[in-house]
Amino acid sequence: MSRPLLTVDEMERVNSAGRERGCHRCGAGEPGTASGNFVPEYHPPRIFGTTSVVIPSCLSCSRIAGAHVTISVHRRFKCA
Ligand SMILES: [Zn+2]
Repeated sequence: MSRPLLTVDEMERVNSAGRERGCHRCGAGEPGTASGNFVPEYHPPRIFGTTSVVIPSCLSCSRIAGAHVTISVHRRFKCA
């Protein structure tokens, strides 16, 4: 069985930061997820290397960021 991406404590730190300061991109105080958890956003994105920071993001911003990462990866590896 694989390890979850974040431990319960790590996820609680993400949620705590989100409740205090909101989504790091838009400032929304509610994550917009069914679970009520903020979406942990990795900086830099995990696909680009070692992650150094995990910050709270709302669902809408997470989806937009995910699309940007996908486009970036496509450009880097498929259209070079
Ligand atoms: Zn947001």
